[in-house]
Amino acid sequence: MENQKIMVTQSTLPPFEEYVDEIKKIWDTHWLTNMGPFHQKFQGLLEEYFGVNNISLFTNGHLSLELLLQAYNLEGEVITTPFTFSSTTHAIVRNGLKPVFCDINSEDFTIDVNKIEELITKDTSAIVPVHVYGNICDVDKIDEIAKRYNLKVIYDAAHAFGVKYKGINCASFGDASMYSFHATKVFNTIEGGCAVYRDPEIGKILDKLKNFGITDAEHVDMVGSNGKMNEFQAAMGICNLRHLEESINKRKQLVELYDECLSNIEGLQILKRKTEIDSNYAYYPIIVDERKFGVNRDILCKELELYNIFARKYFYPLTSEFGCYKQKFDVSHTPVAKKIAQEVLTLPLYPDLPVSMVEEICEIIKNSRKK
Ligand SMILES: *Cc1c(COP(=O)(O)O)cnc(C)c1O
Repeated sequence: MENQKIMVTQSTLPPFEEYVDEIKKIWDTHWLTNMGPFHQKFQGLLEEYFGVNNISLFTNGHLSLELLLQAYNLEGEVITTPFTFSSTTHAIVRNGLKPVFCDINSEDFTIDVNKIEELITKDTSAIVPVHVYGNICDVDKIDEIAKRYNLKVIYDAAHAFGVKYKGINCASFGDASMYSFHATKVFNTIEGGCAVYRDPEIGKILDKLKNFGITDAEHVDMVGSNGKMNEFQAAMGICNLRHLEESINKRKQLVELYDECLSNIEGLQILKRKTEIDSNYAYYPIIVDERKFGVNRDILCKELELYNIFARKYFYPLTSEFGCYKQKFDVSHTPVAKKIAQEVLTLPLYPDLPVSMVEEICEIIKNSRKK
């Protein structure tokens, strides 16, 4: 199609007939939500996929994180990064906790593990690190710090579905992880998400919290919310999971092509993928150094738009710079995050993005360089 807009992502859908075939059964049972057969089946498939026993499904990723933080009954301060989607910081603040912003490292943009300890105070109760772009945090070091200071570690793993570290699915790291199955993610259930945790007691609390805190018909014992995943979402998850591997493989090929075309351009930094990680190739960010590239990120972004290519400034701005948080929290510790947010541009990447389009995008980028 001529003049078709190329967006940063495109939602993955299973073949139409496959989904319709799946949801037909719902017309027999009239069971639409509240932990029905699709919910149960999908949960089992995910446990198998992650190689863990404890999962709770949610209607979106945000509620899984917000209710996870509530389930751990955390207090005081939580160390996190501002280089993330609004959800991470909101989940902390909505739990009455204070986010303490730690910087990121300039190679893979996850939390800088060498700067965590200096932020720990007597009020610190947890670390909420964010795996970004399909890379994962330095889980070993974070684990070591958390043990030493007796802190909980709850990962925002919204970008990391399917990512492995030394052959282990990253769902196993920390005390818990939150995943998002939003339409724009590597794996989607339209909207959706899940919490993965070590302690089965947390699961019991989460299952209540996501259903209004209801214990039984006449007893409500917790100030809960409504976070249940419905049957249509679960059915979408069951279908999309069948195609996940193929979809990650297609992403990988496109990422390798981007890498090949963009790795030796003065002034452009591409994402360093740690060797021990099997990535899910969720996003393709580039960092534009204006001094060496000749034009800045914003201009490069506009240049691409002239060709109907819509890259995204993702993540920008930092969550700590949002109107609702500005000047509320100390941001003096995050100079790297600030710089990266100003220079990052996330390029289009999704399984059905044509190879020729990746080549075209790279050409436009190369030709935009002014030096
Ligand atoms: C998508 C995303 C979320 C929120 O997930 P939803 O399913 O959209 O609620 C949280 N954190 C990060 C890093 C995300 O990318």
